[in-house]
Amino acid sequence: MDIVKGNMGWIEVVVGPMFSGKSEELIRRLRRAEIGRQRVQIFKPAIDQRYTKNGIVSHSGLEIASELVKSGSDILEKVAPRTEVVGIDEAQFLGESVVDACTKLADLGKRMIVAGLDTDFMGRPFEPMPRLLAVAEEITKLLAICMRCGNPAVHTQRLVASEELIVVGAGGMYEARCRRCFEPQLAHQIAEEEKEHAAAAKTRAASS
Ligand SMILES: [Zn+2]
Repeated sequence: MDIVKGNMGWIEVVVGPMFSGKSEELIRRLRRAEIGRQRVQIFKPAIDQRYTKNGIVSHSGLEIASELVKSGSDILEKVAPRTEVVGIDEAQFLGESVVDACTKLADLGKRMIVAGLDTDFMGRPFEPMPRLLAVAEEITKLLAICMRCGNPAVHTQRLVASEELIVVGAGGMYEARCRRCFEPQLAHQIAEEEKEHAAAAKTRAASS
């Protein structure tokens, strides 16, 4: 952000696929604020308990202490009046209320830094991130590197058989893919294949 006068708050959003360095970028901005002696609070969804319960951890192992929340309303309750900077990681798991919480807190003069996935495993906009982008002052879109071909990757490829919107995981379950290598139907195809295998195994068992 450029020069901001007075106690004006604002919303910064960092989006991109998995493995694009969103958490690292969030941690970098929050650390810089802490070094500048600003009062910082950090939140992440209770659903995401990869690696540690009380910290945000990027895939490269950077870590910063955080509080677990279930929704935007939880954040509104937990932010102290004197807090100046609020960080939120994996905001796509917090539901619509996170947009309202960010708007209210920015209106109160707080700097909101929010990271999250902007598209889901099918390549569709991942609510509420698109709505958050619409009300943000500043947007950073990060890209990963396609794990197939090395081109800039905008997509999160799911490699396991699940059609649930939310399947929390990291290494092995997801890959960064460019628009050419992205296979939105892959999770569905794997699920269908597994069903066929199971049915075939049952038939074999019954006939032997
Ligand atoms: Zn590719």
